[in-house]
Amino acid sequence: MGENLEECKKKEGIFKRAFKRVKRELSKDRVGNKKLTWSLRVAVASFACLTYANTSTLIPNAYYNLTDKYHESKAEKELEKRFNLEYLGDSNEDNIWKLYYYLQGIQEINPALLEHVKKITLLSEGVCESIFVKPFNKTAGSFNYVFGNLELIHDYDMVEMAVLAHELAHVKYYYSPKEFKEKISSLFDWSKKKETGSYVLYKLGVMPTWEDGTTGPRYGFMNSIGPLSNDENIADYVETFYFNSLFLWKDVKSTDKVYQEALKSLLEEKFITQVQYDSVCDYVGFEK
Ligand SMILES: [Zn+2]
Repeated sequence: MGENLEECKKKEGIFKRAFKRVKRELSKDRVGNKKLTWSLRVAVASFACLTYANTSTLIPNAYYNLTDKYHESKAEKELEKRFNLEYLGDSNEDNIWKLYYYLQGIQEINPALLEHVKKITLLSEGVCESIFVKPFNKTAGSFNYVFGNLELIHDYDMVEMAVLAHELAHVKYYYSPKEFKEKISSLFDWSKKKETGSYVLYKLGVMPTWEDGTTGPRYGFMNSIGPLSNDENIADYVETFYFNSLFLWKDVKSTDKVYQEALKSLLEEKFITQVQYDSVCDYVGFEK
């Protein structure tokens, strides 16, 4: 998961409004006014929750930055050298090698996805399980555009390379030209957002669904998270190519032209390769 600038601005707006509300409530005389006190408490709690949900890995990150030079392992050095990036976090060598091989796999398939990544933090098991992180961190990975840092949790075996590819797509999207972002965004019908859910709730771990309760591909979006963010939708497109099969494309019809147009744009901007583009065209039955 990650966010583009628009999403961040939107969230900033939510925080600012919540903050203003807290200030307004505080400035009122609320002695003896129970209703006001409760609304203040709710406002403060929501504000704190939203803020923390977005910064829950700040403390571990600061710790990793401070202690990094004391536990440089062979695996870490190799990874940093091979991929020309800074590695932080989990000192478990097996986990670092796992990341190494996933990165290597993606580099062999599509080196353009690694172009902009300069820093990766792998959150260790201890950090992920701690009460400061676990209740708030709902995702297997995220891209912090402020620090240019790609964060992953230690245990992403279940989804293999797909999580890493998804996060790398977020990084690449962040550094993509504005024209590309606008062009690909114009392909989708963003009014479908009404059918799914709120981005804030999604960030808090509530999975949006379509009106009938399903989550699969629809209206050109890869899934029901798609209408919430251009960035997220694109990362989900890219992710589909890094599972063992193209199963996420099974419900897309060859007449759904938005998908093919989106794939063409992604190919042009090197989010996907010609081989990947062709494989989906064959699988779904798009004309090449
Ligand atoms: Zn994402």
